[in-house]
Amino acid sequence: MHGKALGKAWVEVRDRLILLAKRVAEMRAAPPNRAGEGLRAADSAIRAGDRSNAMRVAAVSPGEQGPHPHLDSPGADFSQSSDPKPQLPVRRRPGELERLNEQIGKGLTERHGIEVYGFGIPGVDTDTVREIVTALDDMLAKYPHTRILSMEISNVDGDIARAFEDRLHNVDLKATRIAFSTRYATDPTLLSKNVSEAVQKGHFFPRPKGPAYSAIVHEFGHALTYAGRSAAVDRADSHLFDHYLRTYGHENPGGDVGESYRTWRGQLSGYSFWKGDFHPTEALAEAFTDVELNGDRASEPAQVLYQLLMDTAESEWRKEGLI
Ligand SMILES: [Zn+2]
Repeated sequence: MHGKALGKAWVEVRDRLILLAKRVAEMRAAPPNRAGEGLRAADSAIRAGDRSNAMRVAAVSPGEQGPHPHLDSPGADFSQSSDPKPQLPVRRRPGELERLNEQIGKGLTERHGIEVYGFGIPGVDTDTVREIVTALDDMLAKYPHTRILSMEISNVDGDIARAFEDRLHNVDLKATRIAFSTRYATDPTLLSKNVSEAVQKGHFFPRPKGPAYSAIVHEFGHALTYAGRSAAVDRADSHLFDHYLRTYGHENPGGDVGESYRTWRGQLSGYSFWKGDFHPTEALAEAFTDVELNGDRASEPAQVLYQLLMDTAESEWRKEGLI
């Protein structure tokens, strides 16, 4: 198969998966959920609130207008109350939160054909799950040709999240699997603390969105690198240098241009460097995160790398006949 046929083959596979997931969701939502019957009547109002929210999450379809599931379902945790943080803890049936988290995760399959794993692991924080799902919804709305094969919560050594390059069903199409650390998914306090400290040290850019949301945006930057067959990685440093010379080369005749270039490039986050050396793979993902989260306030080298990332991904999508 040639590029164009390949690109469309992926779209067909994905759309079939979305259709299948929607049918399963409809079957799940159609009969009343009997699991809670026979439990104490005192719990019934809370149960009803949860169930209706869970069903609404399950029923969202890709073309549907309206708010994201997480935005309209703070009540998923606390009956119909308008106060998102009531004083009294809500009693829950065993496994209830795990089922809710799984349900929210399955929205990714229903809307984008993404396989999900590990969302039902006990103790996973529901707000973190919502951030993960919303970040992917937002990124795929902006970059719909990016192939995300799976999103899982699993053991990720030493990192908050990771992106892995994969190929699509034995054909030569690049795709990405993303994993979010179980350790951080079950400990939102640790997650916030570690991300805030990393921002204070200049390791990460300021991240105005939630820590899980920001982590997924970073991994999505890797997915775009893979989408462009990683051509941006080899070109990143020379591309930055060319831009610097074109823009500032005349300002410092006779001076050490290498030195002033490195100072300018040093506006990138600390995570873009490894032991003092430029690390193009992370620099590209960080640049993408900076531009996505901070817009015009992103640093100039980040904007330059973002554009390179877009150019390399779009060049592949064009070959595949997707744009
Ligand atoms: Zn990374």
